[in-house]
Amino acid sequence: MMENGDVSKIFGENVFNIPTMKARLPKDIYKSLIKTISEGSRLDLSVAEVVANAMKDWAIEKGCTHYTHWFQPMTGLTAEKHDSFIQPTQNKTVIMEFSGKELVMGEPDASSFPSGGLRATFEARGYTAWDPTSFAFIKDHSLYIPTSFMSYTGEVLDKKTPLLRSEDAIDRAAKKVLKLFGKEPRRVISYVGPEQEYFLVDKKLRNKRKDLLLTGRTLFGAKPAKGQEMDDHYFGQLKERVAAFMREVDEELWKLGVLAKTKHNEVAPAQHEIAPIFSTTNISSDHNQLTMEILKKVADHHGLYCLLHEKPYEGINGSGKHNNWSIGTSDGEQLLKPGKKPEHNVQFLLFLAAVIKAVDDYADILRVSVATAGNDHRLGANEAPPAIISIYLGDHLAAVVDQLKAGKGVKYDEGVLIETGVESLPDIQRDTTDRNRTSPFAFTGNRFEFRAPGSRQSIGGINIVLNTIVAETLTEFAEILKDSTHISKDALELAIKTFKEHERIIFNGNGYSDEWVEEAERRGLLNLKTTPEAIPYFKTEKSIEVFTRQEVFTRIEVETRCEIMMVEYNNTIHFEMLTMLEMAKQEILPACLAYTKFITDDIISKKSIGIDAPKETEKAKRLTSLTEELMVRIDALDAATKVPNGLDAFETGMYYKDNVLPAMEALRETADTLETIVGKSYWPFPTYTELLYLV
Ligand code: ADP
Ligand code: MG
Repeated sequence: MMENGDVSKIFGENVFNIPTMKARLPKDIYKSLIKTISEGSRLDLSVAEVVANAMKDWAIEKGCTHYTHWFQPMTGLTAEKHDSFIQPTQNKTVIMEFSGKELVMGEPDASSFPSGGLRATFEARGYTAWDPTSFAFIKDHSLYIPTSFMSYTGEVLDKKTPLLRSEDAIDRAAKKVLKLFGKEPRRVISYVGPEQEYFLVDKKLRNKRKDLLLTGRTLFGAKPAKGQEMDDHYFGQLKERVAAFMREVDEELWKLGVLAKTKHNEVAPAQHEIAPIFSTTNISSDHNQLTMEILKKVADHHGLYCLLHEKPYEGINGSGKHNNWSIGTSDGEQLLKPGKKPEHNVQFLLFLAAVIKAVDDYADILRVSVATAGNDHRLGANEAPPAIISIYLGDHLAAVVDQLKAGKGVKYDEGVLIETGVESLPDIQRDTTDRNRTSPFAFTGNRFEFRAPGSRQSIGGINIVLNTIVAETLTEFAEILKDSTHISKDALELAIKTFKEHERIIFNGNGYSDEWVEEAERRGLLNLKTTPEAIPYFKTEKSIEVFTRQEVFTRIEVETRCEIMMVEYNNTIHFEMLTMLEMAKQEILPACLAYTKFITDDIISKKSIGIDAPKETEKAKRLTSLTEELMVRIDALDAATKVPNGLDAFETGMYYKDNVLPAMEALRETADTLETIVGKSYWPFPTYTELLYLV
């Protein structure tokens, strides 16, 4: 526990960060490592040797015995394999060693990680490569080294490598555009601040429910008497146990150098949020993985369990992860910030146009980037943005764009643009009051907030897509404008043309309404409601072209990733279905039968002494018919588990969606009705009221 409130005393204490590097590395080594970190230049093995040694000494002083390469396979989780520093000597003792080669490269067996068929095509072995741009850190007596993970032939097997490639793509493309404006920053960087939602549940109660234990969400459960309608939880007072938990989470994260900043209660009971201050996308992605891990670990210390699932409870808001995304230069210029001077505005308007065009042209793959079985319960459920991708600009910016489209406000003086004549731009920064929570992709002052991602997702995949598609449109713009002699005039014209061509993607109204669904269809926008419908869009020729052109994925990498997403969806539904059947057959049905017997026995004994019990008899009949219905629906789900032979992963996904999910819903409906009738002491597991309110 911290002795006082001074976070600076503990911040980053478990991180091999810049001050530690500076203190522990020889000057020339420090310099070349910093160069590698800030410019992405190659690192010499001789330099790595010295760095490894310094890292090892530092880690041992802090109690470490092991090191691990830490990577992010396509499961969306992190993976680690620990090796101790020990090295035997001739006289049967050991010394502690860590070589440059061990720092730079590892060879975990890749065969148990999803590869989407890559392994069949290429080689079974994989290797991990040090990512010096994300600092090494200490956790549980091990030195953690952030790494990329790929096959021996160089195909990526993880979420980090393509993310780094997409950052390079943004850098290349944005620099081309900035050059036209006479600017040559060293690097253009994408930034992300992810807001992480989660639920807490009492650990003992959670362990009594197979569904929470095995699938992370409740597959049964009648609505609680008190839901979220009272609106008393959002920003409400923190319960003591929750406050203690959050404090420990913050401390752990600060020690790991994570800029944990905001915490509060969310809309639903027992739902909370934590948000860091934004960092570069790569670091933010690593830190978000750490945050999810720490949330789970610390919850355990407080007798709690942290549910990261997108929809743990039916009828109660699910959890998302708002991905606040922006781009900026190494000189500190924020490229999505509407500056005050018109000439800056033109540059801003061009970048804005690039984002708008990117989101419209590639709405399909952006949608795929948030497509998971868990998130399907959220998107379009009138609590999270709809599955239709659209952009909200806010009143001011929308007005600016409208005026420009209408030909207003553009004045020229001898061919040189002097002003946009649009007055409201400087206010955009403050325009945060009327934020539209129903929009999936909202401009919020100096960044875009992508609200569709699910709470459990790695933010890697999302930002790979965002960076890639914006890099693509920026590249196109740079090409169009490359011979321009009046850049502000030509750039403004291009921005206005783009606003006109892509106006269908802008929507400032209520994204939850049915009218929007119809309107979006008229506009020709996609409405991909479910994961199996969405995923094939990831591997269209258009999608493959943008990924390959921006050097983020090869064709085979796109195809295998698609396969992995699909298999993950299928596996999720498969396990949910089996868990549901097990609970229904082994727990719910026996409970219903026992309770019915209790009632019918009671009726018989009353009858035997001449007491009439018409209401009780009615209840017994209703119980019996519902229990019969339960058995029929169990059989129906059982039948649906038999996936027809010969289906590929995509067809299987559609089969699950069209056949298994409805059978699961039907079974749940009957079971939930029974829960409201069967006596509490007979019901085999904790109810929603207990799960949501005993935290
Ligand atoms: P709200 O809940 O009002 O949307 P929060 O303060 O909870 O806002 O979270 C906003 C997130 O956006 C934080 O992580 C913040 O650091 C991040 N953010 C702020 N400015 C930028 C920016 N320019 N680029 C990326 N992220 C940003
Ligand atoms: Mg927030």
